Amino acid sequence: MSVTIKSAHEIELMREAGRLLNIVHKELEAAIRPGISTWELDKLGERVIRGFGCVPNFLNYNGFPASFCISVNDEVVHGIPSKSKILHEGDIVSIDAGLIYKGMHSDAARTYGVGQISPEAQKLIDVTKESFFKGIELAKDGNHLHQISAAIGDYAESFGYGVVRDLVGHGIGHALHEDPQIPNFRQRNRGLRIVKGMTFAIEPMITAGRPDVEWLDDDWTVVTEDGSLSAHYENTILITDGEPEILTLAE
Ligand code: MG
Repeated sequence: MSVTIKSAHEIELMREAGRLLNIVHKELEAAIRPGISTWELDKLGERVIRGFGCVPNFLNYNGFPASFCISVNDEVVHGIPSKSKILHEGDIVSIDAGLIYKGMHSDAARTYGVGQISPEAQKLIDVTKESFFKGIELAKDGNHLHQISAAIGDYAESFGYGVVRDLVGHGIGHALHEDPQIPNFRQRNRGLRIVKGMTFAIEPMITAGRPDVEWLDDDWTVVTEDGSLSAHYENTILITDGEPEILTLAE
């Protein structure tokens, strides 16, 4: 598969897919509290998505058994929602969400604190989010893809954090995962030339310790090898003539 340039019509649909996903995230953020299970969050979010007449794109993706990936503390990504997984005061929880609107996909992730969290955990969340914005400053027509990667990774590493290597961002559109892969760390080459009309899901996954991760025996949940906290921040963006448009932050 090669990197696709979206038509004006496809872009209109992706704008709506992004706007709706932002609403889903806000509903979930409002529901986060100590005592709620990740299963309850999953069901709430799925109701919101289906209420829009959309489909959760993670559900059954390669057999994934839920609509959202919900990852707690040292879980980096792809946590499976469960009735027995209860959020506690002081946890951090990453919610990765996506939906399909009229055949076009959106994908976005946020990490939140549950109740009162430590200053260290809050800083990890804030730096992870900021690293995304450092990256997309370079997401411009005529630039090269790995400029984004370097900006994200250099910023996060300047705080001593680990930048996950084993998972990367991606193109998005008619499929959830399209070319190209978008690493969150400095590459040897500059990567492909970015062109107006490309749509990317850029998603730094940052750890408070080392960058190494491992997969649990459920074959989904990715955790930090050293047990350190991990945060995730992702938006679907559109490359334009000027600043990128952040589709999943649209109101
Ligand atoms: Mg993604």
